Amino acid sequence: MRHASSRTLPGMSKEAEIFQGFLRKNGLKFTPERVIILRLVFETHEHFDAEELFMAVRRAGERVSKATIYRTLDILVESGLVRRHTFDDRQARYEHIFGHKYHEHLHCLSCHRIFEFTHEDLDRIQASVCERYKFTPASRSFFISGYCSRCSPPPLPHPET
Ligand SMILES: [Zn+2]
Ligand SMILES: [Zn+2]
Ligand SMILES: [Zn+2]
Repeated sequence: MRHASSRTLPGMSKEAEIFQGFLRKNGLKFTPERVIILRLVFETHEHFDAEELFMAVRRAGERVSKATIYRTLDILVESGLVRRHTFDDRQARYEHIFGHKYHEHLHCLSCHRIFEFTHEDLDRIQASVCERYKFTPASRSFFISGYCSRCSPPPLPHPET
């Protein structure tokens, strides 16, 4: 995935400015732990869960509690910088969306790979539905779960005997 935003600005990154503004507005502090989490969340351009982020923090030689990771991920989602996905009954997955184009997902139930796609027809459907219900969209979530081309669907369960 390629970043649309410029990362060459000196000093604070754009996402850090936005996050700091959001924290301030909500009476929260931009603590060193939150700085680390934000940096790592924006360093990976993949989908990750809280456990993977915890491991990334460790690999970076930093110390942040799991509770802080969960809490900060919640705040990042509220701030609109990060999206949370519950593709299946496993842990929620996250991805930073600031700097990326809007996209939808395909999730493989077998290998758990995630594929991203966009389709202009979905935008048309959204516009038409919102028009019909006089609804102002803020976000949407559309994903397809199933089996990717590498994985074959499991056999149908045996009928009860
Ligand atoms: Zn990115
Ligand atoms: Zn698969
Ligand atoms: Zn994605």
